[in-house]
Amino acid sequence: MTVALVTGATGQDGGYLVERLLAEGTEVHGLVRGEDLGGGPVPDGLVVHECDLGGPAADVAAVVDRVAPDELYNLGGVSSVAQSWAEPLLTTTVNGTAAVVLLEAARSTQERTGRPVRVVQAASAEIFGEPEHSPQDERTAIRPVSPYGAAKALAHHAVGIARARGQHATSLVLYNHESPRRPPSFVTRKITSTVAAIAAGRADRIVLGNLDARRDWGWAPDYVDAMVRAVRHDTPGDYVVATGEAHTVRDFVAAAFARAGVEDWERLVTVDQALVRPADPSLLVGDASRAREELGWAPTVGFAELVARMVDAEEPS
Ligand code: GDP
Repeated sequence: MTVALVTGATGQDGGYLVERLLAEGTEVHGLVRGEDLGGGPVPDGLVVHECDLGGPAADVAAVVDRVAPDELYNLGGVSSVAQSWAEPLLTTTVNGTAAVVLLEAARSTQERTGRPVRVVQAASAEIFGEPEHSPQDERTAIRPVSPYGAAKALAHHAVGIARARGQHATSLVLYNHESPRRPPSFVTRKITSTVAAIAAGRADRIVLGNLDARRDWGWAPDYVDAMVRAVRHDTPGDYVVATGEAHTVRDFVAAAFARAGVEDWERLVTVDQALVRPADPSLLVGDASRAREELGWAPTVGFAELVARMVDAEEPS
């Protein structure tokens, strides 16, 4: 039986990934921070290992050694770019250094057991910062502009170094991927939850930051599918995972209001400068040709469908 270890198992992607792996009959272990255990639901059947990615390296490595997984998915860490500006040190540790710890633990575990430990790292389009060209691909210069991007860049480079040493280690440069499980700290869910509240008469306006930022928003379970394909692909590598389509935050707002049946919505949107970030990539859009060709991956949900699913999943009035 395949054994998988997932960090960040209680997050959006972790939840979808754990459910998928369990459904396939994989034995799934999750590395979960103590404080996350009380919060969201822990999927039935997940073997929980209480451990903080930001804690002592020896504790994290001990879990990897004990589980001795065939597949190690590193999805844990500070998930929000916005939060990374408030906590740059924590972000560097859990999104950056922890990947090095896991890669080292994977290497020593496979040396001990003689069985490979394949690693998939969830990197991010934020590693490209303000790219000069769009769309970005695996050859785009890595030049982050946020603490989040810098930490993910460290993890991405660490994967490349491990691979050069012979490890089966893959880094997926994931563009924004959303679902009804996104917390409202992300702009998509903030928009869909507030628009639903406005439609139901529970709120009277939405306050946002940069409306002109353009993002390549995909459907989270599709990105989880890329992770599974990547780990099971014979050769490891770096892959951009994206839809290839960019939309502004304003487009998302318009689509959400339209789906909720609210007309004349422009007057309901206020911009607060406090929500505009110190540095914010204006256009992130990815070219996933390599993932399409080598992994046989393709997104299944487009922009309009994504917005519709998220709006429809909000609390009814
Ligand atoms: P990110 O791309 O991983 O940082 O995902 P977010 O959903 O947090 O942000 C996406 C884009 O929306 C960024 O360019 C933000 O600057 C922009 N944005 C505009 N208003 C808001 C807001 O109120 N909250 C958040 N989180 N982002 C906003």
